Amino acid sequence: MTHYRDTYACIRLDYIQDNVETLYQKVHKPFMAIIKANAYGHGYQQVANVLKDNPHISMFGVATLKEAIDLRNIGIQQDILVLGAIPIEDLDLVIRYDITLSLFSKDYMDEIQRLYHHHQPVKVHIKIDTGMNRIGIKSKKEFEDILSHCQNSIFQVDGVFTHFATADDPLQKEAYHRQIEMFYDVIGNHTFRYIHCQNSAAMMYHHDERSNLGRIGIAMYGIDPSGEECDELKQVMSLYTRVAMIKKVKKGERIGYGHTYTALEDEYIATLPIGYADGLIRANQGRQVYIAGHYYPIVGRICMDQMMVKVDENVHLHDRVEIFGEHISLARMAKELSTIPYEIVCLVSERVERIYQ
Ligand code: PLP
Repeated sequence: MTHYRDTYACIRLDYIQDNVETLYQKVHKPFMAIIKANAYGHGYQQVANVLKDNPHISMFGVATLKEAIDLRNIGIQQDILVLGAIPIEDLDLVIRYDITLSLFSKDYMDEIQRLYHHHQPVKVHIKIDTGMNRIGIKSKKEFEDILSHCQNSIFQVDGVFTHFATADDPLQKEAYHRQIEMFYDVIGNHTFRYIHCQNSAAMMYHHDERSNLGRIGIAMYGIDPSGEECDELKQVMSLYTRVAMIKKVKKGERIGYGHTYTALEDEYIATLPIGYADGLIRANQGRQVYIAGHYYPIVGRICMDQMMVKVDENVHLHDRVEIFGEHISLARMAKELSTIPYEIVCLVSERVERIYQ
């Protein structure tokens, strides 16, 4: 098989199944698998294909209409909810591909009604904004108003949901409790096929018996939503490259664009075929990679397609280099970059080949 380049992400699909099972053992309820943004960078086709026969997965959640249609086109038959807004002009596609929409405001509802000219109902889950202040209706009155408009209308209300802003933060438990209380207060005595509010963090750190579907995202990919190391879950993605060249530079020689690194002594410098166009952003300069049992610093600016590492005699041409994986966790990398693991996996760009195991 041709790989074109020695840079690749390893994706353990069996770990996805293990992580789903781990979460199921905690909450004992079915899941909506969140596979937006190319399954958080892991590859939506392969991830959807292993999940479609998983008995714990009842439906799929994505961010955009295009992502939903892509799932239909690979044969996904379960309900697919688009979590965000779609352009109203694309309503025909919603019907043609049997996609479920998030109904998040009266204005959006009116716009859909105005443009709608089909016989089939539009499937929706009503989104309640309980404190995230992103999309969603903000009061019980608005909810009742929308529900009554939905009766005998073009809308088929299959579910109701909210999203937590702080479920991952032990210091903000009160905000989580305020949101969940408001959610159930707004719903009142109404019943729905799906009532869902729990993201990965809410399922891992809180209890909720009243919802009947969990939205599993980051935990499925083996990453703790808090950004901390996690023994319970198995990290699904690892990123590797190989040493393309090793050279000896003299003390005082400078490395890379802007000459931001100067060799402190005679040093070995390895060049790796990975750069910021692969998702390894320039802020990684100064961090470490793992080669043949040791950690080595990234020196000089990271280029678009290549970067340099200061190594020693233990490193050889074509040695495998771990950017993140078994020896450098995403949690550690995210902390060192002052970001969250979500961002790192989503940024691994399309040109990085994914190898599935
Ligand atoms: N639900 C909604 C509305 C989301 O936007 C997301 C992710 O951003 C999720 C669920 C999944 O969250 P997580 O990946 O933290 O489980």
